[in-house]
Amino acid sequence: MTSRLALLVMGDGAARAALSAALTGAGWRVVLANSGREATEAVADGPSVVVVNDALPEGDGPACIGQLRRSGAEIPVVLISTQTRSLDAHRRLVDELHVALVAQEPIDVAELVGKLDALVTIEERAEGEAAAQVGLKQAMAALRQDYARALPRRLGTLAYAIYQAKAHPDDLILRQDAKSQAHRIQGTAGAYGFAAIGKSVRNIEDLLRPRSAEPEGTPAPFMETAWVDVERELATVMRSLEATEIAAAAESSPTAGSTALSVLAVCGDQVYLQYLGHLGRQRVIEVVPAQTAAEAVAEVTRSNRFDAAFIDERLAPAASAYRLALDLRTHKGLEGLPLAFLSGDGRDMKARVAAVHAGASLYLGKALDADGFSAAVHQLASLRWAERPHVLLVDDDADFTAQMSVLFRHERMNVARVNHPDQVLHALDETAADVVLLDGNMPDHSGFDVCRVLRSSPRWQDLPILFVTADGAPAARAAAFEAGADDYLLKPVVREELLARVKVRIERRRFLRERSDRDPVTGLMVRRACIQALSARLVEARRHHRPLVVCLLDLDHFKTVNDRFGHLAGDQVLASLGGLLERRFRAEDLRGRWGGEEFILAFPGEGPEAAELMVARVLDELSAVPFTSDSGEVFRVTFSAGLAVFPQDATTADDLLRLADRRLYDAKEGGRRRVVGVR
Ligand code: GH3
Ligand code: MG
Ligand code: MG
Repeated sequence: MTSRLALLVMGDGAARAALSAALTGAGWRVVLANSGREATEAVADGPSVVVVNDALPEGDGPACIGQLRRSGAEIPVVLISTQTRSLDAHRRLVDELHVALVAQEPIDVAELVGKLDALVTIEERAEGEAAAQVGLKQAMAALRQDYARALPRRLGTLAYAIYQAKAHPDDLILRQDAKSQAHRIQGTAGAYGFAAIGKSVRNIEDLLRPRSAEPEGTPAPFMETAWVDVERELATVMRSLEATEIAAAAESSPTAGSTALSVLAVCGDQVYLQYLGHLGRQRVIEVVPAQTAAEAVAEVTRSNRFDAAFIDERLAPAASAYRLALDLRTHKGLEGLPLAFLSGDGRDMKARVAAVHAGASLYLGKALDADGFSAAVHQLASLRWAERPHVLLVDDDADFTAQMSVLFRHERMNVARVNHPDQVLHALDETAADVVLLDGNMPDHSGFDVCRVLRSSPRWQDLPILFVTADGAPAARAAAFEAGADDYLLKPVVREELLARVKVRIERRRFLRERSDRDPVTGLMVRRACIQALSARLVEARRHHRPLVVCLLDLDHFKTVNDRFGHLAGDQVLASLGGLLERRFRAEDLRGRWGGEEFILAFPGEGPEAAELMVARVLDELSAVPFTSDSGEVFRVTFSAGLAVFPQDATTADDLLRLADRRLYDAKEGGRRRVVGVR
């Protein structure tokens, strides 16, 4: 056993020498200190007890003890007092400075050593007990935490089992499965301190128990009323879980909420919504539930923070899922909202085409697990992220770029950061930045050099560049603007100011680009932007080995429309078709005005049959729209279209367009108002 250590904070003198000798004789080790400051340092050696007297070079004993306590040391302290202290002073020593023992001079050294031995023994025993208590508590807490982590998954499984059982009321095996899920949870939840959850789950188990009339009898009459109770109990469970999860999340990660993806889930079934909520919580995805189309519209009106929406294909009444999808996309700010349709299990072409027509990027079965759900959400969200502003941070100070990227991500911007000027051009190629934040002083090349290089290339001439640098000298500022900077901010930055300036630059750039890339009549991309977008889609298709369908579309007898009904009415037709194309199809599909009364579409990941059906649907829609001329005459229009598919038909954009154009010509030759695809 290692010997005990005593720290003596005493003025140099006979008392110190005597005590030191006696302690050593009793098997102690001794360290000496002369002041409160020295004592505070010596505490690091781990003494079991500190003995302080009043005969210190600076200040008295209590002053030294006060200093020790303020430094956070909690070791037992014995004061050898040379003064006779008042009762009040004595109480202060015990209550405030936690002095374990006050010994009055002159002391009996042998007696004091005995008291120190006793004191330390008591302390050690107490510590041992406390440690044992702490050990048990920690082990319990760890178990509980493990259980708490697994609980959402278990409850999610239960919710899905209940959902399945309810959807198939005649299937007693499904109900039995839900019941045994409940049984498994209720047995343990209470033991781990989730009493409320345990109780509700026990009620669920009871409710799912076969009645006397079953299994030979008819289960239907039981179900009608029992499901209401089951769902109510499940809702209680979810609420309790939410409360514990929120508490746990608040402890573990204060920022999780701010960067979480947010999806709107629309389904008539409360239980399935709860299940999706659970999948979300397992993957830090916020799931906002809506049971009807009206609720969904109310949610997006309240806030358009959603990264995606999931809609149950069977939302009542019939076909309202499609209508809702189309409605959502007409909301300001949600035009590009990525959508997923949740289907039963049927994957028939007609339903698929209807879903894509309504804008669904994904068509999923309902039997999702957390990974499947999370993958779908991220896939959809990435479609949206392309629209989010991109910020490129260039600074050799990695801490600074890390800190700034948190700031911009919080504002829902995409961030790329590089810590060496050599990586800037590569990063710009990769990220399509809307704004660059540039440090002035970096190794090898200064920010001014980087800025000059960027400005010398036509590609980056309009890119907003903001200097964020520590150099406030007028000469540096002037050098930055000479090199082509748009703005100059000093470190340390004021976050609000930086954000405001960055946002202004991004908005202005987007506005300018919008003006040059959008056709004012149809609201679609102009031909130049279409060509760029098409080649980007083609690169993607090649990389992921996915098909890409290109479609050229031309209004029928449009010259006649102009001649008979006026140029203004003709423009109205163009605008109307532009709007129709914009609202239909998925976020990732390309639509543009190719020129005159010709349009271009491209569908990534789609086969030619589905694409042909989708375009034919839009043709049906357009031909049903009544237009009115200046003189009040009502007329209708149609179009013809030709399709070509990568990679079967051709592999370059030029060849695909040429082929689509030839098929468009075939469609015209064949009598117009038709879509010609792959034969
Ligand atoms: P087809 O069925 O063979 O395509 O016959 P078409 O009359 O549509 O074809 P044509 O190429 O002979 O005529 C296209 C017409 O589209 C001519 C032009 O006046 C009209 N057009 C092109 N751009 C616009 C526009 O921006 N506004 C209006 N109102 N008309 C336009
Ligand atoms: Mg035409
Ligand atoms: Mg034409």
